[in-house]
Amino acid sequence: MEREVRVRFAPSPTGPLHIGGVRTALYNYLLARKLGGKMLLRIEDTDQNRFVPGAEQYIMDSLRWCGIEIDEGIEQGGPHAPYRQSERKPMYRQYADQLIRDGYAYYAFDTPEELDAMRARLTAAKVPNPQYNSITRAQMRNSLTLPEEEVKQLLDAGAPYVIRLKVPRKEEVRFNDLIRGWVVVHSSSIDDKVLMKSDGMPTYHLANIVDDHLMEITHVIRGEEWLPSAPLHVLLYRYLGWEDTMPQFAHLPLLLKPDGTGKLSKRDGDKLGFPVFPLEFHGKDAETGEPTVSSGYRESGYLPEAFINFLAFLGWNPGTTQEIFSMPELIEAFSIERVSKSPARFDQNKVRWYNEQYLRAKPDAELAQYLLTELNEQGIGVDMPTERLEQIAGLVKERATFPADLAREARLFFHRPISYDEQIVSKKWNAQVAAALTAFAAVLPTATDATPDGIKALLTQVVEGQGMKLGQVLQVLRMAVTGSGAGPDLMHIMSILGPQETAERLQAAVAALAAHAG
Ligand code: GLU
Repeated sequence: MEREVRVRFAPSPTGPLHIGGVRTALYNYLLARKLGGKMLLRIEDTDQNRFVPGAEQYIMDSLRWCGIEIDEGIEQGGPHAPYRQSERKPMYRQYADQLIRDGYAYYAFDTPEELDAMRARLTAAKVPNPQYNSITRAQMRNSLTLPEEEVKQLLDAGAPYVIRLKVPRKEEVRFNDLIRGWVVVHSSSIDDKVLMKSDGMPTYHLANIVDDHLMEITHVIRGEEWLPSAPLHVLLYRYLGWEDTMPQFAHLPLLLKPDGTGKLSKRDGDKLGFPVFPLEFHGKDAETGEPTVSSGYRESGYLPEAFINFLAFLGWNPGTTQEIFSMPELIEAFSIERVSKSPARFDQNKVRWYNEQYLRAKPDAELAQYLLTELNEQGIGVDMPTERLEQIAGLVKERATFPADLAREARLFFHRPISYDEQIVSKKWNAQVAAALTAFAAVLPTATDATPDGIKALLTQVVEGQGMKLGQVLQVLRMAVTGSGAGPDLMHIMSILGPQETAERLQAAVAALAAHAG
């Protein structure tokens, strides 16, 4: 019988979730939904030293904002609860004991000083990468080198120890990665990793394998930085007798900085000029303890759909030219086979482009709500029918990347100009133009058709009546109505402002600029 597809996102709560982590969660989620499986969230908090308060909640809030739904986890519960490793502590020991019993692991009693001395000795002997491994273990104090009686005494006396995996000396460890194909590693390059620490806590490696097995995980999809650990994990599955149900591995390509120089990391924070976290994060400086704030996509005005669409394409593509994908469309189109092996470069212009596409595709009614919220936040009173607000939102959206841009572009509808673009005034304002605008202001209130086309027809008629061409007055007219030389379509602006307000603005401009009309 086919096993149900079960994937997990297994972050360590050591800080805010980086966008690379969100991408890992997303690909897991897409695969689970595509194959009708389950998505688990497991918190890997066995390293108490690196625990950051608030990080766990931050991770869950981020996934929720992104629309990545969890089927089993801390908040949802599930058949394999608890989903937080610190609460599963009692479960791991028996597997370490089993490995010792079967000859695949051993007790190591070496003190930190002894370990340092070993590394110093190997360094002095020019060993490139000093490790506790199949060769060096023979010189150390462990249950493989000490007499059985002494080991027993040490254990009975409560001497501190760790449990290490006994990695074979000469063996090829191979597994088939869904993205990279066959990965072959010689066991001599793997060290005897600690599985249980002296405080009785399992390390990441043991807890991760035990949990993936108990939670019946079928696919492990994670970042490339875990690739070097995978051969060790394969050995653990084998030694624990779980090879038959070992999950399939898929190691995702790295996310690089925009210039391609190295990995995009949490530490980049806001230094590169764009957020590396989904939500704003309030933390503490590791050295000074001072409060820190790192910006987030949400607070910077990104829409979750745009952010997710962008992330999906960092390392995957559908093989067609289509770039806009909703979450259901991503689920439909996603496959691990189309995830790239090569690293993906972060592209700030692209994420902005996605935001524009999603913002502009929103119905005007929804944009009007964004606009209203922004205006309220800026203390700009809005007293106009909803329909007009929607017209404004629909007009200015073509110049907006973020919701806040809507308000910036829409300000002209709520404030008459208090100044006029000086360059346009000095270059283009003259008596003839002033006369044309005065004439237009005079007939505007009698306009029978106040649609953009109606206003344009009226304007053309007046301007040509004055012996001028439309092109000669358009920029000055815009400046007289809005104060500036650029903005959304002018005929639409005048239509929304209405003939009366437009006429009054023109008269005010003619009066204010009288001195320049000479
Ligand atoms: N806890 C690991 C992390 O923080 C999980 C790695 C894995 O998925 O196996 O990324």
